[in-house]
Amino acid sequence: MPTKKNNNQLVTTSEHLLPFIESLPDAVVIVNADHKIVLVNSRTGEMFGYPVDVLKGADLMTIIPELHRGKHRQKVDAYFQKPVNRPMGAQKRFSGVRADGTEVPVDIMINRITLDGVTVAMALIRDVTYQRELEDRLTLDSLTDEMTGFYNRKHFKTRLEAQRSGFLRSGLPTSVIMFDFDHFKHINDQFGHAGGDIVLVNVASMIQKELRPLDVGCRIGGEEFAIILPNTNLESAVAFAERIRQHIERMEFRVEERRFHATVTLGVATFSSMDRTSDAIMKRADEALYAGKAAGRNCVVSQDALTRTEAD
Ligand code: GH3
Ligand code: MG
Ligand code: MG
Repeated sequence: MPTKKNNNQLVTTSEHLLPFIESLPDAVVIVNADHKIVLVNSRTGEMFGYPVDVLKGADLMTIIPELHRGKHRQKVDAYFQKPVNRPMGAQKRFSGVRADGTEVPVDIMINRITLDGVTVAMALIRDVTYQRELEDRLTLDSLTDEMTGFYNRKHFKTRLEAQRSGFLRSGLPTSVIMFDFDHFKHINDQFGHAGGDIVLVNVASMIQKELRPLDVGCRIGGEEFAIILPNTNLESAVAFAERIRQHIERMEFRVEERRFHATVTLGVATFSSMDRTSDAIMKRADEALYAGKAAGRNCVVSQDALTRTEAD
């Protein structure tokens, strides 16, 4: 038996190892302490889009995305100084880079072996594109509302809390608009639940087009929505809310041949350094919204108007 184990470390030769790694479904990349690839199987060539001969002798960084190269070099050095074998299924997400520059999500297992008398690191690299996509899909599903594609209440609260921390650190304003449809029960009564749903879907889609990339549109209840507006002061948020109000007022919905309109009432609030939790801003936006309903609906009410009313 030419292959043996020494202190739990595999000791073998390229000649003996190659047929074995050729039979594996994963890519196998063997690297020496100088970060040079000394042996790969054909699966590695397929996975990364290089002829095997090009990879052999190449620097390991050839298949590491540019962004991670510096860190990866340090990791390889650290591994050779103190090798800790790594199993598959690590929590961290790794990617490799193909010859055409695209990235491939991978899971990696690393073992130290002695190959042709030299200590090297043998990495088993598994393409996890399918698993990664499934994971991302599931994560997104758990954060979004299926009907409108907006984020759900759970994500709204998470993001709002993150914005509060950001605001405390940077002092950049973040505002929130909350809105609720007016007399939505009447819409359902007259045009059916499906008619109501048409309104919700179309309004969400209109708003999505108005949002900037950092803004977060959420459906926080049945016909209640919230929008987080980072880097936006109260005045700008009120102006944006008014634009949305007018836009919705002008939209026309159709159920069979019947056409109808819908309106919303909006409450607007902004973070204050006094806010201990993100519930505080939600409470102010909600109170403003409630005041708008009491004032006759189809309007925008700012938290400022509330304070003034109370002070008057
Ligand atoms: P107000 O102006 O005071 O808000 O009156 P409203 O009739 O809209 O009252 P409220 O907000 O309390 O009622 C919400 C209604 O929205 C009740 C519920 O049946 C309906 N609703 C909640 N979720 C959905 C949904 O996903 N689809 C449809 N079609 N209707 C919904
Ligand atoms: Mg409601
Ligand atoms: Mg309502």
